[in-house]
Amino acid sequence: MRAGPDARASGDRHPANLLRHGGATLGERVADRVTASFGSWAFILAQSAAIVVWIAANVVGVLRAWDPYPFILLNLLFSTQAAYAAPLILLSQNRQAERDRVKAEHDYAVNQLALQFLLAWHDDTHPPGCTCVADLGPEAERLLAVTHLPALVTTPPP
Ligand SMILES: [Zn+2]
Repeated sequence: MRAGPDARASGDRHPANLLRHGGATLGERVADRVTASFGSWAFILAQSAAIVVWIAANVVGVLRAWDPYPFILLNLLFSTQAAYAAPLILLSQNRQAERDRVKAEHDYAVNQLALQFLLAWHDDTHPPGCTCVADLGPEAERLLAVTHLPALVTTPPP
């Protein structure tokens, strides 16, 4: 994970946000901005309006109809736009996936910490050999087993 010197200054504290704002290169920030604007109603409406104006102007014959029917120049512009949009979206998606991974990792660490506190509290407040966690049933046993904390669910010797 990269975190730039300005990461803390932005007020971000979650590792995923530090990754998003702190360590982004210029290219990554541009990709995020461009894909964010591609995925907006403002862009769809503006592009639709531009298409209507372009076609109407060429049908009516403004500026000597610079792109007459079947609007080949307009098609070329859309092809170019699509050729750049796809890799930009992929770049932004990869960054999103990395942020999700960091977020999941952070959530897991926080949950593990909370579980450790809970276990310490349990050891302090319950008598030795207490089976209250084991009594919760197989679902709790399974959860604790995958977190490598099976000590609580083992039944004490008689
Ligand atoms: Zn207990």
